[in-house]
Amino acid sequence: MRRKIIAGNWKMNLTLPEAKAIASGLKEKVSSQTAVEVMVFPSALHLHAVAEILSGSPVITGAQNAYPAVLTAMTGEICPAQLSDFGIKTILVGHSERRQFLGETSEICNEKIKFFLNSGVRVVYCIGETLAERESQNTFTVLKDQIKKGLFGIESAKFKDLVIAYEPVWAIGTGKVATPEQAEEAHAFVRKEIGALFVGADKVAESIQILYGGSVKPDNIASLLAKPNIDGGLVGGASQKLDSFLGLIK
Ligand code: PEP
Repeated sequence: MRRKIIAGNWKMNLTLPEAKAIASGLKEKVSSQTAVEVMVFPSALHLHAVAEILSGSPVITGAQNAYPAVLTAMTGEICPAQLSDFGIKTILVGHSERRQFLGETSEICNEKIKFFLNSGVRVVYCIGETLAERESQNTFTVLKDQIKKGLFGIESAKFKDLVIAYEPVWAIGTGKVATPEQAEEAHAFVRKEIGALFVGADKVAESIQILYGGSVKPDNIASLLAKPNIDGGLVGGASQKLDSFLGLIK
């Protein structure tokens, strides 16, 4: 049985007081009795404060990005060893904004995923097609390529620390949510492709959590989560207000 996850991607939004206020509200309302696992991904600048507020709470604080290396000369970057000083052991990889605007290819994602998993970090790997790719009937080719390249060479035993987020780019921040049927079709495909990665991968495919992301709101999440292959949501806008974040968790 795959546990559902609601993950909030705060991107480069929120001031420190705003981030702290949402974290405090989550700490108050989310308990060990909460059915879903809750994660937040604040700006790197806010990680320390948010992780401190959420310490002792089941809400997981994760980083939006990190560099795949140990402590070294790499100006402007942060690494898992530094994140672990704050108890941060979850990192997003391959978000479409990083793919689109910062040149993060699936090959770079693969390097990060391998390094982070080998460092004992849990990874949420984001994949998804653009509108042009969907309209040219290339959705499944793109997803297959992102899975094959991004997950190349990852050992079976490491998959327990991997979560996939299917985020159609045309639905991110646009208010245009995929229909539950469109999302389910993509999730089922992703699960099938993971199951074909290596001999015995069908077991990891069955247990891996696949989140949907793209204009998820409290009023559309239930219909998405009702689908058998959708194991939660990676949420931008609606996670950046306490009321709507709590609405998603509920
Ligand atoms: C995201 O940033 O991953 C995302 C899905 O954003 P939104 O929910 O705002 O579409």
